[in-house]
Amino acid sequence: MDIQLQKVSYAYAQGTPFEKRALFDVELAIPSGSYQAIIGHTGSGKSTILQHLNALLKPTEGTIQIGDKTITAGKKAKDLKPVRQKVGIVFQFPEHQLFEETVLKDIIFGPMNFGISEDEATKRAHHLIELVGLPLTVLDKSPFDLSGGQMRRVAIAGVLAMEPEVIVLDEPTAGLDPRGRKEIMDLFLQLHKARNLTTILVTHSMEDAARYADRIAIMHEGKCVLTGNPAEIFGNAEQLAKYRLEPPRIVRFQREFEEKVGRKLPTLCLTEEE
Ligand code: ADP
Repeated sequence: MDIQLQKVSYAYAQGTPFEKRALFDVELAIPSGSYQAIIGHTGSGKSTILQHLNALLKPTEGTIQIGDKTITAGKKAKDLKPVRQKVGIVFQFPEHQLFEETVLKDIIFGPMNFGISEDEATKRAHHLIELVGLPLTVLDKSPFDLSGGQMRRVAIAGVLAMEPEVIVLDEPTAGLDPRGRKEIMDLFLQLHKARNLTTILVTHSMEDAARYADRIAIMHEGKCVLTGNPAEIFGNAEQLAKYRLEPPRIVRFQREFEEKVGRKLPTLCLTEEE
């Protein structure tokens, strides 16, 4: 499903003395099946964009096209329901949203709420729990008896149970150790490839953006200031410095190496080999 933001502006508490403009004329095209990272400092507008992608917020100006659905300021809530089904958001610390008595009930809650039968939702849960790397026995347990990493996987299965065509990841590795981070990011990459899932990663980790995404957008003070592939974005040190962003570690190593040997390497190395 193609996604297109056209001249999207957003103000919190519009028309009140507390009005705060958070997005200014954002233009961003995310083709179906791509892995798009949105990077930028705290306060640059990443979360505000994210909430527009499944219509939790509607733009105060401009339009968002998600597949054949158009989101504008005037759209009614009932018209936005199909968008919410197609775009799954994995919020930061998604495990905080688990609430049911059992893992199974938690995973089937979303689909059943959208009219999927209990049988079908349960089938999905069985498949997904294994897909996210957990044993089937977990389904009967209370989510609160699981480890933090397991809970996060259950929450991810819950988002996938809606069978979204687009998945939006909000700092999905927050609070995990390096091994847990890699496991979760590799899981999303696998899902992205296996299901041709359009994946949108909102992160301040340049390493994750460089390693996983095929397209990058930089947000700065509510504007989308630069888009390109990882080599274009991270190969341009001056542009990055302008937005006070550091290139990923691997690019910094490469630059140091090039300075030491006195010549440029023919390509920019963006991923560390294991
Ligand atoms: P990021 O996700 O990049 O940290 P945000 O989208 O959260 O950025 O914030 C963009 C701007 O909007 C910031 O100036 C922030 O203070 C402001 N903002 C975010 N949420 C709210 C809110 N609920 N009410 C008012 N202002 C907000």
